[in-house]
Amino acid sequence: MPEPKTHKITGISLSNEPFEKYFRMFGILRQSKDRSQWPAETLYAAPYKPLLLLSILDLLEQGIIKTNLIELCQELGELFTLYCSKVLAPEKIGNIGMPFYHLTGDGFWQLIPKPGLENLSSEKNSASGLKKVLIGAKFDDELFNLLVIKEVRDAFRRLLIQKYFLESIQQKLLELSQVNKAVFEYSENLLKKPSQNLNIKEVAGSSVDYVKQVRDQAFRKAVVKAYEHRCAICGLKVITAEGHTAVAAAHIVPWSISKNDSVTNGIALCHLCHWAFDEGVTGISTHYTVLASEQLTLSGNAPGVFLMMRDRPIFKPDINERLPDIEALNWHRKNVFKRL
Ligand SMILES: [Zn+2]
Repeated sequence: MPEPKTHKITGISLSNEPFEKYFRMFGILRQSKDRSQWPAETLYAAPYKPLLLLSILDLLEQGIIKTNLIELCQELGELFTLYCSKVLAPEKIGNIGMPFYHLTGDGFWQLIPKPGLENLSSEKNSASGLKKVLIGAKFDDELFNLLVIKEVRDAFRRLLIQKYFLESIQQKLLELSQVNKAVFEYSENLLKKPSQNLNIKEVAGSSVDYVKQVRDQAFRKAVVKAYEHRCAICGLKVITAEGHTAVAAAHIVPWSISKNDSVTNGIALCHLCHWAFDEGVTGISTHYTVLASEQLTLSGNAPGVFLMMRDRPIFKPDINERLPDIEALNWHRKNVFKRL
């Protein structure tokens, strides 16, 4: 008996017909090609479909997608934007709704409309339009059954990166999927042990840049999740249909001083409240109420919402163990907050 042939990239047996079929289909995605519109990095073609598929592969890796239902969730939008930012100029970062809809033309992806809303009409090119009329999308079942296998995901990821991107950025895209996985795992650990300052799991050969990326993104992800995307001071919560959130994570005692990424040394704040907290014109009391500095009322200032929020309770995480550390808040009041 001759040895069964194996695929030159994947090592998977050539006799696996569905694998061969979908491997071929992933390699011939229909793209708009225009040298004046798309950069050399994306081989002068729209990269949105391969970037959406790479984002989905990462969510399968993380266990966030568990069944054959792909929803336009915040996590998917965030990863898609992250991948786009690695290959496109900021003004080119696309609406995830476009590839989510147009993948239907590639033979393995179907949309699942909400009952009674089967007519997509004008909704098809925007995430917000699609969210109104879709439950989500699905792969062909036999493709999804392949995608739950790690080796298959790795093979499809390598194919997408090699086929649709310039050689010089392929390594960067491969590393991004590793970073995304590490970010997810580290952020989950931070949430499980919210008061502990954990170390990032060492990865053989990982660079300083890798560690910094994982640390920054995981801290932000964990803290924003702990507060369910709500600003602790003003209560603002806005997540766009593309998955962009209005809040970010702030260290209460800055990392440069504390070297502490625990969730309890963090607080989720919108951009304006983040500025005010870092500037010391707001603070938080030991009873978790908002402090507003007298500097807000200096002549010429119009402090707006900050005076209205004074003495109000902050918007807390649901889980008590994730509340800001009292010692950290004391440090902030003593060293940053401007009483006068
Ligand atoms: Zn705010």
